[in-house]
Amino acid sequence: MTKFTLCIAYAGRCLVYLLVLIGVATGVFAQAIPGFSPLEVKVPFPPTPLPAGGDTYLCYELHLTNFYPEPISVERVEVFGESEEGTPLVAYEGQELIDNMRRPGTGDEPDERPKIGGGMLAFVYFFVRIEAGHAVPGQLLHRITFTKHVDGGTESGVIQSVWPVRADKKPIEVGPPLKGGYWVARNGPSNTSGHRRMVRPLLGPATVTQRYAIDYIKIDDQGERLSGDPKVNANHFCYGAEIIAIADGVVSATTTGIAENVPGRTLDEISRTRMVGNSVMLDLGGGVYAFYAHFKPGSIRVKTGDRVSRGQVLGLVGNSGNSGGPHLHLHLESWPLALSSEGLPYVIDAFERLGRCEGKTCTVGPAKKVRGEIPLRDDIVRFSE
Ligand SMILES: [Zn+2]
Repeated sequence: MTKFTLCIAYAGRCLVYLLVLIGVATGVFAQAIPGFSPLEVKVPFPPTPLPAGGDTYLCYELHLTNFYPEPISVERVEVFGESEEGTPLVAYEGQELIDNMRRPGTGDEPDERPKIGGGMLAFVYFFVRIEAGHAVPGQLLHRITFTKHVDGGTESGVIQSVWPVRADKKPIEVGPPLKGGYWVARNGPSNTSGHRRMVRPLLGPATVTQRYAIDYIKIDDQGERLSGDPKVNANHFCYGAEIIAIADGVVSATTTGIAENVPGRTLDEISRTRMVGNSVMLDLGGGVYAFYAHFKPGSIRVKTGDRVSRGQVLGLVGNSGNSGGPHLHLHLESWPLALSSEGLPYVIDAFERLGRCEGKTCTVGPAKKVRGEIPLRDDIVRFSE
């Protein structure tokens, strides 16, 4: 059992309630509640420690649902490890809170994001960095400070909610999806990846399928990604590069026959039913699937049911589907449906890191060998040939 406090402050006085909770595999439930919390707090997919950049990251989303009719304004969210004493691992308020919150089904006015209307759901995004040499906590305690809007005034309160870290699990280790380099991990693992902002219910629960997705583009040693007219796919250095199997597996699905985009086109100009473009899904076993998207038309060399070996060429980098320019999209997930399962963490067994891109400026530096990590957003990496 876990003890859990709920502090609701009225007229400046903080009334602390003690809740008794029963820990379960993926969370905690209130059993004895002397005062109900206006917010439901959940972490639907607790994080697995993820090695990257020499540190360890905990990547997850906190779901907040307002069970009361009155709006609630979140003022501050803090995350602690084993103890709530001392400095929090993360503390969001003000603009940082706005940047890391989303409310599905709303117009998403940034200043309105911390305000959760009656019955409304909000997400808070975390990418908690645990520096090298520090222990990864076995749980995460969230302290949420809020204001509840009631007739003629406001009431403030604090809720604490503890969720486990999947410290007993390790990310699956795979090989590289491409050869050579230099490759930039655009939209890669981070708290600002556009991939993570796509949370949709499809065939059941709302999931973040692209939680650890990466869009790989290729640059030259000057940091340039193309030469000549950017509207020509073949002028992009990654176009036509070989895409390879990251592990032994079985092809569970392919999509083919989708025409290529002119670089720069937006999703509005592409049929939403063709978002993934020409694609390959590999079943890696153990409930892990690898999804590759945006292949060049006619380039896919495998078909459903084929057994593939690590390093086998699956097809070529292209610009089909929801793609503004040639790149390879790759993510690992828990179910063989491209956009309706949980995104799974993974690491690449060996690669080299050569720097990072800052915005559009990419500087290739000396190579550093890396083992068993995932590239982070905008890392410049090189794989074996
Ligand atoms: Zn992508």
